[in-house]
Amino acid sequence: MKTVYVDNNATTKVAPEVVEAMLPYFSDFYGNPSSMHFFGGQVQKSVNEAREQVADFLGADPSEIVFTSCGTESDNAAIFGTLDSNPEKRHFITSRVEHPAVMNIPTVLSRKGYRTTEISVDREGRLDLDELKESITDQTVLVSIMYANNETGVLFPIEGIGEIVKSRGIPFHTDAVQAAGKLSLNMKKSTVDLLSISGHKLHAPKGVGVLYIRKGTKFSPFMIGGHQEKGRRGGTENVPYIIGLGKACELAKKHLEDENTRVRALRDYLESKILEKIPNTLINGDRNHRLPNTLSVSFEYVEGESILLLLSDMGICASSGSACTSGSLEPSHVLRAMGVPFTAAHGSIRFSLSVYNTKEEMDHIIEHLPPVIQRLRDISPFWKDYLKSQKKG
Ligand code: PLP
Repeated sequence: MKTVYVDNNATTKVAPEVVEAMLPYFSDFYGNPSSMHFFGGQVQKSVNEAREQVADFLGADPSEIVFTSCGTESDNAAIFGTLDSNPEKRHFITSRVEHPAVMNIPTVLSRKGYRTTEISVDREGRLDLDELKESITDQTVLVSIMYANNETGVLFPIEGIGEIVKSRGIPFHTDAVQAAGKLSLNMKKSTVDLLSISGHKLHAPKGVGVLYIRKGTKFSPFMIGGHQEKGRRGGTENVPYIIGLGKACELAKKHLEDENTRVRALRDYLESKILEKIPNTLINGDRNHRLPNTLSVSFEYVEGESILLLLSDMGICASSGSACTSGSLEPSHVLRAMGVPFTAAHGSIRFSLSVYNTKEEMDHIIEHLPPVIQRLRDISPFWKDYLKSQKKG
C-alpha cells in the first residue's frame, strides 16, 4: 500500500544526508568529547562544528547554543532555569494554546506558590495582546509564548510580543519547535532571550534538541551534572544526534525557500480541493498567519478519530485535534481555547506536510477523503439532524 505521510508536525523523516553524517559517530568516532586524549578531542571538535551549524541556522553565536535531549527538555529548562535564577519574582505568563511541554507547567508552579496567567486567543487563534499587556506586573518573572501552534500552525507575532515583554525588563522565552525549519529565524535581530527547538521536527532524529540562551540572560542549569555545555546542561553529549542536528539545520536553511513556495502551494492546493469537494468544512486558525505546511480542518458532524482510522486504511497518515480522555472524546485544548464549535472541533484533522511530499500525494488524499467523510456522515445521527433542520429551514 502507498504511504502518504502528512503528519510532519508530529515527527519527520530523518533526512538521508543526516543519517550519513551521524553514522561514523556510532562506530568510528565514539570518544567522549570531555576526554583529554586526542580520540575525545576530535569528537569535541565535531560537536563544536555542529554547534556552529545550529548557530548559523538561528543567526546566533555558537556560545548561545545548548544541546538538550528534546523540545520538552528545552522548554522545561528555559522556564525552570529562569525561575530558579530569579527567585524573588513569583508570576509566570504563558498562553492557553501551548504544547503540553509548557502548558502543564503552570499546574506545577501553582503548587509551588507561583501565580500564573494563561493569555487567551480569539476564534482565529490570535493572541490577545491587550490581555498580555495588562497581565504583566512587577512580579512577572518570565513570559513564555510559542512561536507557531503545533495543531493549527497559527503564528504569533513573536517580535511584537517580545517588545511588550522587554519594555518591562522581563525575559522572554518562545517554543519555536514548530517554527524552526519552516520560517527564517534570526536571533541577532530578535527580542527573544530563550528559544527551544527539537531535532525530530526538522529531519534530525528524535531525542535531541536545542535551547538558545541569549548572552547575558540569567539562567540556572535545569539538568544538574558535569561541566558539559559550559555548565548549563549536565550529561555526556549525545554526539551522533548532535552531529545529525547540525546537518539537519544546514539542510533546513537550504530547504527554507522550497518550504515556503512549493510546500505552501501543496498545502493550499489540498485546502482548496477539500473546501471544494466536502461541504460543511471549516479551516481552523488564521489563514494569513500560518506555518506554510500546516492545515487544520474540521469536518462537521463526524469524529476525527474515525476519519483518521479510515484514512490510515488507505495509507494516509494524518492526526486529529481531539484526545481520548477517560473514555470520552474531548476536543483539543487549542480548538477549545479558540471557541471552535463542538460539532466541528470533534471532527478536526491536521495535515502537516514536509519537503518530501508531492502533488501526487495530495491527489491521493483528495481522491480518498471525500468518500470517507460521506461514509461517516451517512451513519452520523448529528448529520441526519442537521439535514432535517436544513429541510425545515
Ligand atoms: N513544543 C511544540 C510546539 C511541539 O510541537 C512539540 C512536539 O510535538 C514539543 C514542544 C515537544 O518536543 P519533543 O517531542 O522534542 O519533546
